[in-house]
Amino acid sequence: MYLSVFDIFKIGIGPSSSHTMGPMVAAARFLGLLAASPFHARGLRATLHGSLAFTGVGHATDRAVILGLDGVTAETYDAEAAESALARIRRERQVRPPGLGALDFDPDSDLVFDYETPLPGHANGMVLSATDAQGDVILTETYYSIGGGFVRTAAEMAAGGTEEEAGAPVPYPFHNAAEMLDMAARSGKSIAQMKRANEATLRSPRALDDGLAAIWAAMAACIDRGLATGGTLPGGLNIRRRAHDIHERLKAERGLNLTPPHTINDWMSVYAMAVNEENAAGGQVVTAPTNGAAGVVPATIRYWLDHVPGAQPSQVGDFLLTAAAIGGIIKRNASISGAECGCQAEVGSAAAMAAGGLAAVLGGSPAHVENAAEIALEHHLGMTCDPVKGLVQVPCIERNGLGAIKAVSAASLALRGTGEHFMPLDNCIEAMRQTGRDMSEKYKETALGGLAVNVPNC
Ligand code: SF4
Repeated sequence: MYLSVFDIFKIGIGPSSSHTMGPMVAAARFLGLLAASPFHARGLRATLHGSLAFTGVGHATDRAVILGLDGVTAETYDAEAAESALARIRRERQVRPPGLGALDFDPDSDLVFDYETPLPGHANGMVLSATDAQGDVILTETYYSIGGGFVRTAAEMAAGGTEEEAGAPVPYPFHNAAEMLDMAARSGKSIAQMKRANEATLRSPRALDDGLAAIWAAMAACIDRGLATGGTLPGGLNIRRRAHDIHERLKAERGLNLTPPHTINDWMSVYAMAVNEENAAGGQVVTAPTNGAAGVVPATIRYWLDHVPGAQPSQVGDFLLTAAAIGGIIKRNASISGAECGCQAEVGSAAAMAAGGLAAVLGGSPAHVENAAEIALEHHLGMTCDPVKGLVQVPCIERNGLGAIKAVSAASLALRGTGEHFMPLDNCIEAMRQTGRDMSEKYKETALGGLAVNVPNC
């Protein structure tokens, strides 16, 4: 199964790729199924199971499903339009997906949180159904949101992936970092060039470049919205959005002789925090590789473009392709999901991707890229996922800032050497997989351990 750059980087909505974006993707897939069927539906129903039921409200799963059944997708999402659509749906008790007309859907009765019956395929299960005029089910499908915005039906779970994921063979089918380095050495190509050749089996060069530009535009817009927005995040923790104020102070300090050199870390942090505050507020973000870790890659790119002499916007595509190659290897051989392997798999993977991408655009060889990714991942090993109240806020927002700082340091350190180093990236990924396997469930997105149970009483 080839993982495209657009499987790793997907435009989505916050706060969670598995609990918000996945359900919205599932709703879109079900509407497609309904449109292609011979049935004339009168109404829709949705049931959330397992983790989607338990933490669904905190992760805005209900909102994502309602909007998704109204035809909203992550790519077309607009916060203001979404609010008025939700008000209309609640008032009319109907959704209006394009091409399917008005369908009965009362969010209070047709969207069910089933806390009793987990589905067998995955912790994040949901069932979508269409009904006729008598209320009888005429079409139904079960979907699993398996992390990173990826969605599979029960049949696809059994088959090991979707038909689209199976795809055509690619010219550089590297499954791990060793194969990636070997193919790069044999072909004389950079990692981004190999990835471009692989993507060419799926789309034209023009479509690839347009898609990469759209991904970076969405990332950049998310940073800018986050830097421009103050106030308090939703969810009940009363967490103040800090990126705006910090950015204003950083701009005011710019050029002052007394500014200490480590202030550059605050710039990296503030770009990442801007993204993750947007994510926590339910805004549009790009999975990189997940929503919870969405700030690291954009912050590293923005740091490079705005602060590193000689950075060329035309190279952003190569950054993203290189980062996607690293993310794909980690997803294939371990995990990019906090629910599976803790935060080492989310922010750790994001830092490895960003470090690899930065090393590439700074002129590093494939060996430098592999080295940079390894350093970044190695120093996230063991990191647990313990979000307070199940919200993607504490520790996630700051953690992305620190992830970006580690990514930049890892790339810089790798570029000081030749690319030769002691611990191969593949071994580090395997260590991450084993550590994740051995990690208590308390530390895997359940909010039952760590910081999540050490909250001050105030
Ligand atoms: S703590 Fe958990 S929810 Fe937060 S970024 Fe890390 S993996 Fe994602």
